[in-house]
Amino acid sequence: ALPKYYAYVNRERPIEYSTFDNLRIAWNLPSDYVVHQKLGRGKYSEVFLGTQLTTNKKVVIKLLKPVKKKKIYRENIQSGPNIIKLLDMVRDPLTKTPALIFEYVNNFDYKSLFPTLTDFEIRYYMFGVLKALDYCHSQGIIHRDIKPHNIMIDHNLRKLRVIDWGLAEFYFPGREYNVRVASRYYKGPELLVNDQLYGYSLDMWSLGTMLAAIIFKKEPFFHGDDNYDQLVKIAKVMGTASLYEYLSKYNIDLDEEFDDILTSQNRKKWSHFVTNQNRHLISDEVLDFLDRCLVYDHAERITPKDAMAHPYFRPVVEMYKKLESGI
Ligand code: ATP
Repeated sequence: ALPKYYAYVNRERPIEYSTFDNLRIAWNLPSDYVVHQKLGRGKYSEVFLGTQLTTNKKVVIKLLKPVKKKKIYRENIQSGPNIIKLLDMVRDPLTKTPALIFEYVNNFDYKSLFPTLTDFEIRYYMFGVLKALDYCHSQGIIHRDIKPHNIMIDHNLRKLRVIDWGLAEFYFPGREYNVRVASRYYKGPELLVNDQLYGYSLDMWSLGTMLAAIIFKKEPFFHGDDNYDQLVKIAKVMGTASLYEYLSKYNIDLDEEFDDILTSQNRKKWSHFVTNQNRHLISDEVLDFLDRCLVYDHAERITPKDAMAHPYFRPVVEMYKKLESGI
């Protein structure tokens, strides 16, 4: 099954666009930047707060460990709505250490921010992620690592940016992709059952798990101990009937590892997760939207474009309409 939108955007582009052949990075000198404290570290990089001297603006400096050139290009997604801006690419002429310079977001840690968000703020920020996803999908790109750590939010400015495009990949119909992407709790079932023919809709599963965690105040929502247990945790909520339907539709055989751990499960009702602490965040609209994201069959999930038209986001759309008309 082809994605509903954007299936062929990369085919309509020159091949160099996605292979990065013939492309060379024109590295600038790092002399315009000073490094301050460390913000974080990942597998492939160390991330620092810094200052751009000519503008006196705060920036984020991502020092790259030796990485494939392709990975560097992946981070170089064009600027789009709510997508972190890559400002510069620099390299020290002596050490040859490359660094990517990004716009800085005064991020509030999600573990303390998410529990304080109101119903409207959750809808607003989720809509913000959807804008970024619709844009990157329209550019033929799957993010493949959507999770709270990769959503930077400056709550004072109500500003949201999706970061860390290092795992992003170009979508081509019928192409088989590496399933070793995304972070465990946010991995779609396709990754856990080794269904390599996945696509843009992986990002919508990850978004769904994030939203479920926020509205039910249960982070992470699917808490697997390893990649096998992750599918078991999903099945305990979403049930096994539709899992087996999905597997037979695509002729997928489950790994033997599941034989002993995956037992028949009924689908749980969302009401099971409602408590006095989260009741104010639960509505028919949000549960319907979750039902449209957390679908085993990736071909059946709602797209970001259609999601933005879902009734759950109507208050956000109304707000933007009012702002536009100047009321
Ligand atoms: P990779 O997995 O590719 O190695 P990484 O996890 O090292 O990536 P990022 O996720 O891009 O790198 O950044 C690491 C941390 O640095 C983030 O979790 C965040 O706390 C902080 N950070 C990154 N970019 C920004 C930004 N633009 N503004 C503020 N903080 C940022």
